[in-house]
Amino acid sequence: MSILNMLPPVKGLLQENADVGKRSWFGTGGPAEVLFVPADMDDLVVFLRNLPQDIAITPLGAMSNVLIRRSGIRGVAIMLGDWFKKIFVDENVLEVGAAVHCNELATVAMYHELGGLEFLIGLPGTVGGAIKMNAGSNGVGISNVMMECEAVTSSGLVKWVRVTDMDFGYRHSSVADDLIITRAWFRGIPNASYSITKRTKELLSKRTESQPTGVRTCGSTFKNPDSKKAWELIDAAGCRGLRIGGAAVSEKHCNFIINEDNATPEDIENLAQSVAQRVFDKTGIALEWEIILLGDK
Ligand SMILES: Cc1cc2nc3c(=O)[nH]c(=O)nc-3n(C[C@H](O)[C@H](O)[C@H](O)COP(=O)(O)OP(=O)(O)OC[C@H]3O[C@@H](n4cnc5c(N)ncnc54)[C@H](O)[C@@H]3O)c2cc1C
Repeated sequence: MSILNMLPPVKGLLQENADVGKRSWFGTGGPAEVLFVPADMDDLVVFLRNLPQDIAITPLGAMSNVLIRRSGIRGVAIMLGDWFKKIFVDENVLEVGAAVHCNELATVAMYHELGGLEFLIGLPGTVGGAIKMNAGSNGVGISNVMMECEAVTSSGLVKWVRVTDMDFGYRHSSVADDLIITRAWFRGIPNASYSITKRTKELLSKRTESQPTGVRTCGSTFKNPDSKKAWELIDAAGCRGLRIGGAAVSEKHCNFIINEDNATPEDIENLAQSVAQRVFDKTGIALEWEIILLGDK
């Protein structure tokens, strides 16, 4: 029986068997049993308060850091829509909806002559996904500029979470897998427009020089192990250009796996596992996934 019949009525969108994998940055993967795009905060809260407790929920952002296995996402995947894409600026503080893209946040901060958020330029995820992942670049993570965030629990309780309560680390936070971040506040540092623009341009060109562009990928597959670069270990283990099915290790940045030719999610997962095995055999170092795997194997 369809779980749609068990779900509370909503103002937003409810879609059964939604093809989220194809819409992910990998361009491949399984569906969501149901996709819910809330019309606004009330819609999200009321839905969660009335959702039967045994139905799992999974927040999704831009899907630039997830590999969705063929089995798909059980229960309800929740993707925040336009209502959660607002940015308000009050002096040095930016109040930002969780569905805003990091790139846009960096651009708005630059426009308001607020520095410190330049590192978010070119980062393809949303603010919600970036907080969960503590995404960042060049040694700065989103936790370094965030003040606090608003989130909704799976039972529909709205709460405010301070940075100090989120146990942030390198590409890590203690945000529970079913907590939905809805809004966050960031502090910018007033700076001259030309300095912010210059730094932003430098970071963008560094990104385009070192990373493949215009390809289907979810960025770095593995976290950098202590004081080592994952790409260097992968390169030294002879994995640059390695292929399984339609998936390939990028020639340009070998911590990136690319969906080169109609790769299946298994091609990508198997290729990543093969890379990790080769690195382990050569160095004894066990690489840890940075990409989040969703769905049962
Ligand atoms: C080309 C490319 C370059 C990249 N470069 C970088 C980089 O420089 N630095 C870096 O750190 N990452 C990088 N990434 C990875 C990715 O962009 C980041 O991890 C990003 O923050 C993920 O955000 P998202 O919205 O796409 O999240 P998703 O991929 O949709 O989800 C990631 C995780 O966050 C959770 N999540 C999503 N939205 C919410 C929410 N609102 N509330 C709670 N949890 C949520 C999901 O459940 C999942 O666990 C790159 C990816 C690509 C494709």
